[in-house]
Amino acid sequence: MGTPADHLDTLLKETRSFAPSDEFQKNANFNDPDIYERALKDPEGYWSEQAQHLDWFTPYTKICEWNPPHAAWFSDGTLNAAYNAVDRHRTTYRKNKAAILWEGEPGDRRVLTYDMLGKEVDRAAHMLSSLGVKKGDRVAIYLPMIPELPVTMLACAKIGAIHTIVFAGFSSSSLRDRILDADASVLVTADAGHRRGGIIPLKANADAAVDGTNVKTMVVVNRVGPSSGASMTEGRDVAWEKLMAEMPNSPYPCEPMNAEDILYILYTSGTTGKPKGIVHTTGGYLVGANTSMRSVFDLKDDDVYFCTADIGWVTGHTYIVYGPLTAGATVVMYEGAPDFPNRDRFWQIIERYGVTIFYTAPTSIRTFMKWGPQHPAAYDLSSLRLMGTVGEPINPEAWMWYHEHIGHGNCPIVDTWWQTETGCAMIAPLPGLIETKPGSATRPVPGISVAVFDEHGQAVSPGSGGYLVITKPWPSMLRTIWRDDERFAKTYFGQFPGIYLPGDGAHLDEDSYIWILGRIDDVINVSGHRIGTMEVESALVDHKSVAEAAVIGRAHEIKGQAITAFVTLKEGVEATPELIAELKQHVVIQIGAMARPEEILFTAELPKTRSAKIMRRLLRDIAEGRALGDTTTLADPSVIDALKSQYQDKE
Ligand code: ATP
Ligand code: MG
Repeated sequence: MGTPADHLDTLLKETRSFAPSDEFQKNANFNDPDIYERALKDPEGYWSEQAQHLDWFTPYTKICEWNPPHAAWFSDGTLNAAYNAVDRHRTTYRKNKAAILWEGEPGDRRVLTYDMLGKEVDRAAHMLSSLGVKKGDRVAIYLPMIPELPVTMLACAKIGAIHTIVFAGFSSSSLRDRILDADASVLVTADAGHRRGGIIPLKANADAAVDGTNVKTMVVVNRVGPSSGASMTEGRDVAWEKLMAEMPNSPYPCEPMNAEDILYILYTSGTTGKPKGIVHTTGGYLVGANTSMRSVFDLKDDDVYFCTADIGWVTGHTYIVYGPLTAGATVVMYEGAPDFPNRDRFWQIIERYGVTIFYTAPTSIRTFMKWGPQHPAAYDLSSLRLMGTVGEPINPEAWMWYHEHIGHGNCPIVDTWWQTETGCAMIAPLPGLIETKPGSATRPVPGISVAVFDEHGQAVSPGSGGYLVITKPWPSMLRTIWRDDERFAKTYFGQFPGIYLPGDGAHLDEDSYIWILGRIDDVINVSGHRIGTMEVESALVDHKSVAEAAVIGRAHEIKGQAITAFVTLKEGVEATPELIAELKQHVVIQIGAMARPEEILFTAELPKTRSAKIMRRLLRDIAEGRALGDTTTLADPSVIDALKSQYQDKE
């Protein structure tokens, strides 16, 4: 644990707020404010009510068993995730409804109705089964954002095999680490993937990754074709298309899974250190994912829903696959980069498909701001009715830009705080009921008990900051870290017994709204003031020249720590010493003298994880002249070299 955060200073004063329109409230799935009170009084009753939106093969009689740190939910019920996500829709009016509207980066398109998706999943389940995959086996998946990815996941779920997806942007050594840790026996990959007009050599990476692991078979999807340069190893590798064609054209029976059987293992982003293999089970996870689609995303049958995350991250697991499909949604799935071939690709997609719900990350929004509002302005975005963000705290200025330039002032914004570990959104407004404030994820969703603790484990009163905690178990919580239960207990329950510690600092405002201030490990201590990174960064992003900022505390003889800010500028802005002085002054005006950065460095890029989160720990390592910690999750290692030499030049 880093600096204690029991009295995090709150610096930023945000006074804007946005209530849902009467119309939105009237039509929202969740529009009775009593739901909060009811769920608070009887969380198990609330979750059991929500669990009725799934189909169970054997109904459960137990709801929650809690032996801290181990929880079980619905533990005597059985169900199947693929049945709930696909098969049950095939016998209803949704049979011919589009489940996935897919668009490839080069511009190719596919539509899969629920029935078509179901047939593919059946075939893929036959295929995996023919390769010897059984219930409980681990299947590693290293695929680009193509329909074969959800098909493979759902085929695993159908059989009862545990999938572990490795984001296609990862290198072969990262893939190898995860295959070894999960001990996977089959790897599903592609010859290559398209990215920003270039090619990611997935098969070559996979070849280098599997040597010495227990992978016996590699199934290879032909995505790019001969130009991929992929080669097949006789006896180990098989072509997806060939094998699928040989499979029977019959339904594959769903394995009845106990609610507590593992659905998947997914490794965290690695923002704070070595990634953890997070274990999610079937019943509780699906209840959480499905519920939040209806509550936080207000999903209706006629919505067209577009989440820009990659399925390689938890956001894609929960909010491209298991959440929307169990809720019978039409999901837009896009393979490539937002700036290929041009910087308008997302807006083009929204216009083309008439997207109504759009979900993206603050880092993307800041990039769109940097590129300028002319790109979205060229498209008709009037189909949008609700927008979300996830991944990092959203700076209020980015929230306002999103609200104005994408939502045109008409769309509630759901800022969803959650983690790989939590399985689904935990703190987020219900858009028909909660007034939003730019930069705050607002309140916990019904059924979730959140508090802000001081270091003694006492809940702070409104107006103070501290450790964000979750005080009661919830259905979609991680059950353990794969093969490391000790690390699980220590990481999440080691600080306050029986209380889940996410590792984020938070402020509780006078209305009991929650403001995530950044990672506890990143909290800066300047002359006794404890400052979260988010507020100083938000003050910098508030300046018209700034696109993005990362601040860290560097050891300082007198102050304890001094603030160093790394800033990227909007396009066309010149980096001058005058601008540095102006930005320092801007922070002082916005939040006060104690937050004045000691130094500001301009940089073309910030170091980010492959899930596009800022890695402040590496910036701290650079500023304090240390060897760098775990860098395997770094998206672009050259950013670090550039920063290092720049930092040394400065001294
Ligand atoms: P690791 O745990 O390996 O360091 P990570 O924490 O980045 O990686 P994820 O599970 O992808 O892995 O990210 C969860 C974290 O992202 C949260 O703990 C929080 O710090 C941040 N986060 C996600 N959504 C929000 C949000 N809406 N507001 C503020 N922070 C958010
Ligand atoms: Mg984390």
